[in-house]
Amino acid sequence: MIEIRGVHKSFGELTVLRGIDLRIDPGTVTAIIGPSGSGKSTLLRTINHLEQADAGTVTVAGTLIGYRRRGDRLHQLAERDLLRQRSTIGFVFQDFNLFGHLTVLQNVIEAPLSAQRRKRREVEPLARDLLARVGLADKADEYPRRLSGGQQQRVAIARALALQPAVILFDEPTSALDPELVGEVLEVIAELARSGATLVIVTHEIGFARRIADTVAFMDGGQIVESGPPNSVLDHPQHERTRAFLSKVL
Ligand code: ADP
Ligand code: MG
Repeated sequence: MIEIRGVHKSFGELTVLRGIDLRIDPGTVTAIIGPSGSGKSTLLRTINHLEQADAGTVTVAGTLIGYRRRGDRLHQLAERDLLRQRSTIGFVFQDFNLFGHLTVLQNVIEAPLSAQRRKRREVEPLARDLLARVGLADKADEYPRRLSGGQQQRVAIARALALQPAVILFDEPTSALDPELVGEVLEVIAELARSGATLVIVTHEIGFARRIADTVAFMDGGQIVESGPPNSVLDHPQHERTRAFLSKVL
């Protein structure tokens, strides 16, 4: 579903991604763990071309992201085409990023209507179903500021789902939440995983990663140091850097 090949990224002098290769199969959950500053967010943002890689390619559901192939040359997509392409990839941010001037329902239907040009009579019932799925059927007409952080993040998940995306990327979806609100958001994500969605989750919740991930990838210094099933990476790490990280967070 996602194929990342040879991705490099620098910001000025700072090299943040040093050759990332990762293959994510349909219907699987991949958890990306690693220390702060190791490049996890940059990698996620590269997948939907919020960051442009300096080298390498990302393919999602068979589509090359950010470029059009002409012969053996790559040409940048126009902004409008990029927005449409990006709308096939759900993204859930640490700090929710809801539109404050729109109601919950309006937040969920905005991108399907504008970026995907779907019909309101099709999108609105879907949005209401999705709000029910994340336990917020009665909040459709509220504004985000009147919701708790956990509720806002569940709206953000419904909004991502409304795009009917091939994959959903989560960047530390529970890091900004009060501890008592973490569980309700993780439960929604776990339900998505059970339903067969393809998910990529950057998380510090190691226990959660162990419970729902098919693959855990440990990043450090802009590289994937090791990846594999949770019981091998988390319980029998092969690399000293992985062991050192886990000894601090477990
Ligand atoms: P992580 O999510 O693993 O904490 P990030 O991908 O956010 O790591 O950041 C990796 C490194 O890249 C950090 O040193 C960060 O300061 C730097 N960085 C991230 N985004 C930018 C940017 N837009 N401009 C300059 N430096 C950046
Ligand atoms: Mg980050």
